[in-house]
Amino acid sequence: MGKSYPEVTIVGAGIIGLYTAYVLTELEKIPGSQICVVAKYLPGDQSAGGYTSPWAGGNWSCISPNDDATLFYDRFTYEHLAHLQKDLLDYFGEKDSEWLGLGRRPSREFWDWIPDKRKIDSLRMYLEEFNILSKEELQQIQPTAPKFGISFKTWNFNCPVFLQNFCGFLKGKHHIKFVKQELTHLSQATSYVNTEAIGGDKHLIFNCTGLGAHDLGAVMDHKVYPTRGQVVVIKAPHINENCLRWGKDYATYIIPRPGKNKELVLGGFLQVDNYNAQDTSQSETDDILRRTLTLLPKIGKNAEDLEIMRVAAGLRPSRYGGPRIEKETKSDDSSLIVIHNYGASGYGYQGGMGMSYRAVMLGLSNEKKSKL
Ligand SMILES: Cc1cc2nc3c(=O)[nH]c(=O)nc-3n(C[C@H](O)[C@H](O)[C@H](O)COP(=O)(O)OP(=O)(O)OC[C@H]3O[C@@H](n4cnc5c(N)ncnc54)[C@H](O)[C@@H]3O)c2cc1C
Repeated sequence: MGKSYPEVTIVGAGIIGLYTAYVLTELEKIPGSQICVVAKYLPGDQSAGGYTSPWAGGNWSCISPNDDATLFYDRFTYEHLAHLQKDLLDYFGEKDSEWLGLGRRPSREFWDWIPDKRKIDSLRMYLEEFNILSKEELQQIQPTAPKFGISFKTWNFNCPVFLQNFCGFLKGKHHIKFVKQELTHLSQATSYVNTEAIGGDKHLIFNCTGLGAHDLGAVMDHKVYPTRGQVVVIKAPHINENCLRWGKDYATYIIPRPGKNKELVLGGFLQVDNYNAQDTSQSETDDILRRTLTLLPKIGKNAEDLEIMRVAAGLRPSRYGGPRIEKETKSDDSSLIVIHNYGASGYGYQGGMGMSYRAVMLGLSNEKKSKL
């Protein structure tokens, strides 16, 4: 007899839903024909408030906290992005990482304090080209010298482009089915299955709804909240490096996006519980331009001379207590298993594969009760 696989429904098609599909198929060898992704918004769609993933900078950075779980998520993702990049490039053939929307660039990060030793000890173990910056290098940074700084080789995403290519790979290579549909209750997920699936003895539902987890029936997680961020995107072919500075009451970042448009994302803000992604503010734009041009003067001398492509805002799906990666089984039906995988806040691209790996491991193991 052939091996039996579970049926899988993934709710959500942001970077967390796609990473979950990738871990299931490429790392755990579950056939994609067993998997259906259902989401209100799919790669290619845009929604200011309901779909965060296209709005990310996005790169791999030190923005995330220092707890053990996060250190694991960040490391796992950093180390596995090379496999992901290769898998996608092999599938598409003849294309390069700039086209794919997942490339490499140098990065420098600065802090106005000495960061947690656990974080730095962890980073130095795996970041490529990791280097602690000297006092002389710190003193060159304006307006005041930061307390600490590192340089390393990071990952850069062109988020909207990468999401579409990632989705194309999951559909084309693995035959994962994608359905565009909003759910009001998580129980509805059982209706969305891949028609090619061979009925398994278990049905796994991965809840990757990001901010949507706040209002989705059977989840209604009110620990979930938005952290708004405004960005200014300029055309800057001469900047091919990341530069970020973390202060107690500000976050300044400069992130180049792979691709022919030579976009440079300038940010930003971390505004807790602010749901307004529709509007952008001129004073925030001015503040972002002032901070980023001070941090990396080679962007340009005057803000007025920059070619601004757009100003946008997005909502990071934050959660008090950190991401929820938790398994539930239905009390009267142990064949139905829900695995929550949301709350990636400002680090879904850089930590999301590690989160998804943990979620998939929980889903494929045997334990626990659900309220569905
Ligand atoms: C300005 C900004 C800059 C950022 N920069 C970075 C960065 O540089 N690096 C980084 O790692 N991260 C960055 N982030 C964070 C990153 O964007 C998020 O962590 C990530 O996109 C979260 O992905 P997600 O899949 O959880 O959520 P989302 O992308 O919001 O996806 C949620 C999915 O669930 C679906 N959904 C929700 N509710 C329902 C429902 N009821 N029924 C059906 N479907 C539903 C949605 O339609 C969507 O498909 C940034 C974010 C912002 C706003």
